[in-house]
Amino acid sequence: MKINNILSALEAKHPGEHEFLQAVKEVLVSIEDVYNQHPEFEKNRIIERLVEPDRIFTFRVAWVDDNGDIQVNLGYRVQFNNTIGPYKGGLRFHASVNLSSLKFLGFEQTFKNALTTLPMGGGKGGSDFSPRGKSNAEIMRFCQAFMLELWRNIGPDTDVPAGDIGVGTREIGYLYGMYKKLARENTGTFTGKGLEYGGSLIRPEATGFGALYFVNEMLKTRNIDLQGKTVAISGFGNVAWGAALKATELGAKIVTISGPDGYIYDPAGISGEKIEYMLELRDSGDDIVAPYAEKYPDSIFFAGKKPWEQKVDIALPCAIQNELNKKDAETLVANGVTCVAEVSNMGCTAEAVDFFIEKKILFAPGKAVNAGGVATSGLEMSQNAMHIQWTEEEVDRKLHQIMKNIHAQSLKYGKEEGGYINYVKGANVAGFMKVARAMIAQGVV
Ligand code: GLU
Repeated sequence: MKINNILSALEAKHPGEHEFLQAVKEVLVSIEDVYNQHPEFEKNRIIERLVEPDRIFTFRVAWVDDNGDIQVNLGYRVQFNNTIGPYKGGLRFHASVNLSSLKFLGFEQTFKNALTTLPMGGGKGGSDFSPRGKSNAEIMRFCQAFMLELWRNIGPDTDVPAGDIGVGTREIGYLYGMYKKLARENTGTFTGKGLEYGGSLIRPEATGFGALYFVNEMLKTRNIDLQGKTVAISGFGNVAWGAALKATELGAKIVTISGPDGYIYDPAGISGEKIEYMLELRDSGDDIVAPYAEKYPDSIFFAGKKPWEQKVDIALPCAIQNELNKKDAETLVANGVTCVAEVSNMGCTAEAVDFFIEKKILFAPGKAVNAGGVATSGLEMSQNAMHIQWTEEEVDRKLHQIMKNIHAQSLKYGKEEGGYINYVKGANVAGFMKVARAMIAQGVV
């Protein structure tokens, strides 16, 4: 495989899609060896077919704000790959959304979903609309306008959207309500729904819980106990909340959270009601964490800074792509970090990832660590299809088992001579092998 040729051809076709190219490069470098050992992959042009989405929908979303002014946003759905199941992946509503970020997310989603062991293909969508500072009524009108365009292209066995940054239970409710009005069916063509109308128990917690189950497995490979470890988290949304809940339950101490305005350092630990306060902060809609330091005066707010400058045992980026760079990685390593796990998708820059691996730090990529979210979405789809609701214990048990399984797959393909586990390689190869074999089995389509 000529990685550079493939990347430059892709770059020429899609100039400026930096995040997408970053995600593709990471996968290609990881799979190069197995790809070269399997001539059938090259013969079937698996890479060339995998790096182009099946199709992309782009549409205008016009809506009226509370002042009566007309607003125009862009809406997207990237149906990336449905080889192993219906397109599945979240919708992101954030000012940074563009085709490059959604293509990177859809590409990663394809491998992540393959890792979950459930039959789900990869997709992603969203808008450059930001819910920050918008009223409930504005968010509802936006979601309805978005769905008016998208509803024809999704369905329970076609494409099942869910939440992501800026899309939580409230937005899913508005989107799903409009979808049902238009589609006239009630088959659960969304996951992350409210519990009253087909949602799954544990889905809100699942990404964070799954991440901690995975981190626990990583630590076990070095006989390290999570108990008593200090943890830096970035973000303060749903994913950070779930991670904080489970980490605390397992005996670790969360000392940071962050927002676009800076980060909070709370040496006493963010536990109990402080974790619930994160939800209050999020629901305030201001997208800032500074008020935490006013409410809990023993904590400190660092304006405009990132939490990676604190000395911690474990670092969990939980906010957005490329939020931890090489300099941050150097600081963490100099401060003796043991484990870094991306809970956000592609939370670390490529240079930061290379540095962690070079220093033999326990490091794992988002597509393995955060797969518990979409896995539990898969469990929500199963419950909807069977018209039943599993108990909290049942969903959590399945989630735990899936995360252990993803860890085992990553270990199988990622263990290097000398014993270091390269989770980036392990997760990419495991996901790729499954998708590639299924593509070959299904012919040229
Ligand atoms: N947005 C989440 C992810 O990045 C969840 C997707 C889903 O539940 O479909 O995997």
